[in-house]
Amino acid sequence: MACKRCIEKGKPENYGSDPECAFESERFDKDNWNCATLNELREDIEILNEKQPYPYYGAVSILYSNDNTLCTLPLEEGFLIIGWYKQRGKVDNLFIINGDESPLIPDLKTTELVIERLESRV
Ligand SMILES: [Zn+2]
Repeated sequence: MACKRCIEKGKPENYGSDPECAFESERFDKDNWNCATLNELREDIEILNEKQPYPYYGAVSILYSNDNTLCTLPLEEGFLIIGWYKQRGKVDNLFIINGDESPLIPDLKTTELVIERLESRV
């Protein structure tokens, strides 16, 4: 089932096709397009990046290369890594690294928690 933000938003009039939620199977799926949860996460990251100049403990760090964007967001434990190509609505990478643990593919609940904490700062 799609995330609640995708369900609430539905298909915006200016979209040529239906959004593809990244959390249909609970954990992030790279086969996505304009998932409303990930769009909100990206918007929050970009707002925070503009408001809080680097270096700043807890600040997001965004790198750009050949239309690819890679963002590192410090969490209370570890880092969220998110990557996308241009602004076409697809998120290619989403994972959490924490110490020497293997990278974790976040589920919807974890991603929503990150958004909640981000929005308390934007
Ligand atoms: Zn979604």
